[in-house]
Amino acid sequence: MTGLDFIYPEFEVVRDAARCTACRACVRQCACGVHSFDAERGVMTSDETKCVNCQRCVSFCPARALKIVKSGCGPRDNANWSGDTIREIYRQASSGGVLLSSMGNPGPQPVYWDRMLINASQVTNPPIDPLREPMETQVFLGRKPDAAARDAEGRLVCSLPPQIRLSMPVMFSAMSYGSISYNAHVSLARAAAELGILYNTGEGGLHEDLYRYGANTVVQVASGRFGVHERYLEAGAAIEIKMGQGAKPGIGGHLPGSKIIGDVSRTRMIPEGTDAISPAPHHDIYSIEDLRQLVFSLKEATQYRKPVIVKVAAVHNIAAIASGIARSGADIIAIDGFRGGTGAAPTRIRDNVGIPIELALAAVDKRLRDEGIRGSVSLLAGGSIRSAADVVKAVALGADACCVATAALLALGCHLCRSCHSGICSWGIATQRPELVKRLDPEVGSRRLVNLMTAWRREIMEILGGMGINSIEALCGNRLMLRGVGLHQKELDILGIAHAGE
Ligand code: SF4
Ligand code: SF4
Ligand code: SF4
Repeated sequence: MTGLDFIYPEFEVVRDAARCTACRACVRQCACGVHSFDAERGVMTSDETKCVNCQRCVSFCPARALKIVKSGCGPRDNANWSGDTIREIYRQASSGGVLLSSMGNPGPQPVYWDRMLINASQVTNPPIDPLREPMETQVFLGRKPDAAARDAEGRLVCSLPPQIRLSMPVMFSAMSYGSISYNAHVSLARAAAELGILYNTGEGGLHEDLYRYGANTVVQVASGRFGVHERYLEAGAAIEIKMGQGAKPGIGGHLPGSKIIGDVSRTRMIPEGTDAISPAPHHDIYSIEDLRQLVFSLKEATQYRKPVIVKVAAVHNIAAIASGIARSGADIIAIDGFRGGTGAAPTRIRDNVGIPIELALAAVDKRLRDEGIRGSVSLLAGGSIRSAADVVKAVALGADACCVATAALLALGCHLCRSCHSGICSWGIATQRPELVKRLDPEVGSRRLVNLMTAWRREIMEILGGMGINSIEALCGNRLMLRGVGLHQKELDILGIAHAGE
């Protein structure tokens, strides 16, 4: 015993002995085995080394006797060597392993959504009251023709490529069955159907029970091709080729064999207990021409009835990459910013690779407009869309719609404890343990998702009305509606907006 491997627990369980009735609800609720009852001494005890601060026990303590607080005890840190950095060094010195994390990058880089403010009408072009006047929030995603076509008799020819209709400019991001639970997927699917939007299978295939929600499903094809077959492609409203993910650009995915059990293994079409490893590249894609082949293979396989989305991580030369994708025949480009969530990613990648979605989105929209090909694709923006205001700002920067994942998980009960990669989620979301999965009631989950999106839709209508705009599609790329605060000229130039006061 050297003491070198000891790291003082990050969180502390504070139990108010005067309130605690020893009911043991906390013992039953904590999936990490922190609480126990010491029968000999007749007291509740805690093993705080196991606590991830998921707040489950706090929420279920009937006596409000519990608090989980930051312990505050740790190595002496400073502005250069933070406590987290020092603890990570200790962990690596002990294990020799790559550090794993989940959820999005928590780093201090600027959140540009918070540095942009939205315009409102005052005297001329008066505001619109969305309670009394029509307000359109639906959007159509897919390739649009450059001009209206007419036949020899002058009649309008309507031969649009396949489009996706969303009742509001939001859809649920890709989250695979395996990384999240069956009940989480059912909640997302039901909510998407009720709301008239889409959810996304991620790379884990589509569970048999969820084929009935196909009209509200994006089916994903990732480098591992898990669960991909003809019926799967046919089932979705759109097909997404995943080239990259904001939380881990440039690397593949890994779902440990311990999570590949039962239905997860059947849905992914791989044997139980086998690690599901998606390679970093698609082994048949090394150029835009190769990507074009897969885009058209998928279109061919579905008789050109489904739009094809290509999802990429926001990286340094994203504008040029998007230009290539637009020319590959893709109908929609999904850009995922560096704060996007994940079930598991190497910590160093998550925190240091990629760029903010706001800058990536603005750069891509500008590049496609400059090249005269903006109409050939729709743009989806994801990677930490936290509110209706973020959605409106993203649309003004050029997004046709936004992808939302972390906010949806929060609606399902996630407390951002950032331990999804452990597979032990006390809230029944990022887990496959049956006794935990059943903690999430899909009926309740879907209702909460519908509530959240309904609230956002109402807020979007209020913001639009304030701007004097009565259709979300009329806002797309209208950067005059945004002003920056506290941003340098270079940042303003990339965002394509003026500074507040200008
Ligand atoms: S749930 Fe609350 S009241 Fe019950 S044993 Fe735990 S701390 Fe005590
Ligand atoms: S892991 Fe969650 S449930 Fe367990 S003690 Fe910590 S906060 Fe409570
Ligand atoms: S999904 Fe579960 S494990 Fe992941 S951050 Fe949320 S509460 Fe924690």
